Amino acid sequence: MHNALPAAISNSEFFALYQPQISVADGRIVAAEALLRWQRPGVGIVQPSEFVRFAEENGLIDPIGTYILQMACREAAAWPDLRVAVNVSQKQFARPNLADFICEIARVAGLPLNRLEIEVTETAAFPDINHAIAELKTLRARGVLVSLDDLGSGGATMELMAQLPLDRVKIGRELVGKYAEAEGAARLRTLIAAAQKSGLGVTAEGIETQAERDFLSDLGSDQMQGFLFAQPMSAQELQALMGAR
Ligand code: C2E
Ligand code: MG
Ligand code: MG
Repeated sequence: MHNALPAAISNSEFFALYQPQISVADGRIVAAEALLRWQRPGVGIVQPSEFVRFAEENGLIDPIGTYILQMACREAAAWPDLRVAVNVSQKQFARPNLADFICEIARVAGLPLNRLEIEVTETAAFPDINHAIAELKTLRARGVLVSLDDLGSGGATMELMAQLPLDRVKIGRELVGKYAEAEGAARLRTLIAAAQKSGLGVTAEGIETQAERDFLSDLGSDQMQGFLFAQPMSAQELQALMGAR
């Protein structure tokens, strides 16, 4: 990794797959999440679980995140009226003017800011929470949507939900998969109720079965993402799917 990842950055070995997000009310695709992949020569496609943590810990996530943001904005600009959601690492908030930087990337790509969504996770800590809050506020004021990703995976969920300026929360597979267990169901109920009380949209991700879909939709999740609806796919495949619909 120490040698391969910096080389991968110089050689632009990254690309994005896009996974549709579906509106529960009418089943329409409303957005797609850009999911990072590394096309590693001689190895094949490497999943983010194998290198994002390393990149974050070694100062490499900023160039990778910038590259994928540029690519996602460019590819999404060609889609008809569909939002693109991009994962932004807490480490990227070390950049002094992250909001300006992101908006400029979207502008150059020709993507209207109201078709861009930023997903931040609670899995690690922000370098400076007050700075992060200010940058997220700026993004929202300009029309960019902000989501808190992987709800229920860390310990500070409720705190972050109250602190961060957000439009939406995303409940991760880890918790969705526990819907049939009493403790999991109770936790889902509490989190979704809290999000709704704050006026936030609720995306349930990692939906694999009809039973999960029904349970989360009954609890009030208004958008869903998961293998039940669609796998992550190339930009071309997504465009073909949109055309077919
Ligand atoms: P995430 O943002 O929570 O993305 C959702 C993950 O769930 C994706 O894994 C997706 O492929 C997977 N998934 C979707 N539907 C299902 C399902 O029905 N069942 C199951 N079991 N899994 C499902 P992926 O692509 O491996 O990404 C893993 C994580 O890597 C992401 O979680 C995100 O935290 C991180 N990541 C991905 N792309 C980027 C990026 O561009 N930048 C940064 N910083 N992190 C990224
Ligand atoms: Mg995400
Ligand atoms: Mg997630």
